[in-house]
Amino acid sequence: MSLSRSFDANYFLKNSPSPLSIVDLNLIYLDVSDTWSDFYGFNVEEVIGKKIFDVFPNIDKTWEKVYKECLQGEKIIKDDSMVINDKIHLIQRKIMPWRDSQDNIGGLVIIVDDMTDKMNLEQKLRQSDEKFKTSFYHSAVGMALLSNDGNWLQVNAQLCKLLGYTEEELLKKTFHEITHPDDLAYCMEKGMEHYLNRTDHYDMEKRYVHKNGNTLWVYIAITMIKDDKGCPLHFLLQVIDRTESKHTEKVMKDLNEQLIRRADELALSNKCLEEYAFVASHDLQEPLRMISNFLQLLKRKYESLFDDTAKQYVEYSIDGAMRMQEMINGLLEYSTVGTNEKVMEKADMNEIMKNAVELNKFIIDKRNATVTYGSLPVVQGVPSILLQLLLNLISNGLKYQKDGSNPKLMLTCTELAGAWQFCFSDNGIGMDPRNSEIIFTLFKRLHLKKDYSGSGIGLAICKRIVEFHKGTIWVESEPEIGSKFYFTIAKSIA
Ligand code: ADP
Repeated sequence: MSLSRSFDANYFLKNSPSPLSIVDLNLIYLDVSDTWSDFYGFNVEEVIGKKIFDVFPNIDKTWEKVYKECLQGEKIIKDDSMVINDKIHLIQRKIMPWRDSQDNIGGLVIIVDDMTDKMNLEQKLRQSDEKFKTSFYHSAVGMALLSNDGNWLQVNAQLCKLLGYTEEELLKKTFHEITHPDDLAYCMEKGMEHYLNRTDHYDMEKRYVHKNGNTLWVYIAITMIKDDKGCPLHFLLQVIDRTESKHTEKVMKDLNEQLIRRADELALSNKCLEEYAFVASHDLQEPLRMISNFLQLLKRKYESLFDDTAKQYVEYSIDGAMRMQEMINGLLEYSTVGTNEKVMEKADMNEIMKNAVELNKFIIDKRNATVTYGSLPVVQGVPSILLQLLLNLISNGLKYQKDGSNPKLMLTCTELAGAWQFCFSDNGIGMDPRNSEIIFTLFKRLHLKKDYSGSGIGLAICKRIVEFHKGTIWVESEPEIGSKFYFTIAKSIA
């Protein structure tokens, strides 16, 4: 029997969303939908009246059996692949018999579903799901999927290792159970805030409790996974153990606090020492002056009664008392550097050097010395003690010379990033470089008093003055050639 296109059938065929064909008992096409024509690329007229296997000569012969079974009343759904327009298509055929008005099977209805895109998509989804699972389970970072109500949905091996649980044990726990009790309220508050704001991503530092009861510090990055309407589905957590660095941080903090405490203590003890040195040197002056005066008196009045030894003893005592006087004066000066509320101001080093040379004019002329200095900067400092610094260096430069030599002294300056670096050089006797540090210590001298006078205080004072200006002082020297004293002065003194 032939199936004529009634209005409904025509409408149905035209609008069938899937390629559809109708064949009779001999598998001869009675009609096909427009989507069928489009899909296979045949005109309706081309195929009507032709057998399926003539239109598709390459179709697998197993289909003959399928069609036969359907003509006996079966409904079969079966996948196939076909080359259509040089492209492989994965298709699914749904085949069912159609019946005439007497309810006899008149042929078959074949509906084709093109699965190619769907299968590709499914394959892609499967691949990306695989990729996610692989990176999730094998990540070196602890990872978990957490439901909206705080239940673990999935956890990876690293997170289990971190918390000391097996996967099975951890999945039975809630987020609340492993969070440190002191952090729970904060976590809930933060979580709720981001939940309500639908924040895509946030992070935090918090504590977990390990299975063995130990506290773990962790850094957690939380990503909200949403459905296509933007509603939160669950959370992806990435967890990094920070216990070690937290510990180091704490050790560093403690050390720092200790250091600050020590510095305060040191500053206090320095201050006490300064006060002590000041008081001691100040108070010692008076009795010493008395000793010195009485020794002089003794010498003047009774010298004629002394034998040579007694005279020598008195000489030694007077000399000792004078030296002590000198040392006490030096100590007093040393202890007052950087005290007495010295005010930092703009200090023109050219001016200060000019004054220092002026004050040494007598000895400079006497020794036929030359003192040169380049263009020096204006620094932030205390002019009176900077003058003292230059006076000490000049006086040493003139003093530590070979007999009869003409001292050549020079002061230059170079600019560094945060400081001015000065260099004071002389052509004197120089020194063994091994002594280059000791000379800045109080009362340390390299020469005998009979060769070169002095009390070993000048450079210690220089060091204090430089340090007061947040700088350093050092010497580079060669015996017989001369010395270069370097010192820096910080540009900004906080
Ligand atoms: P003083 O000159 O009173 O001994 P200082 O503290 O000024 O004390 O110097 C300490 C020691 O450093 C000196 O005794 C001397 O041995 C050495 N010294 C200082 N300046 C020079 C210099 N320009 N050349 C060689 N030696 C020096």
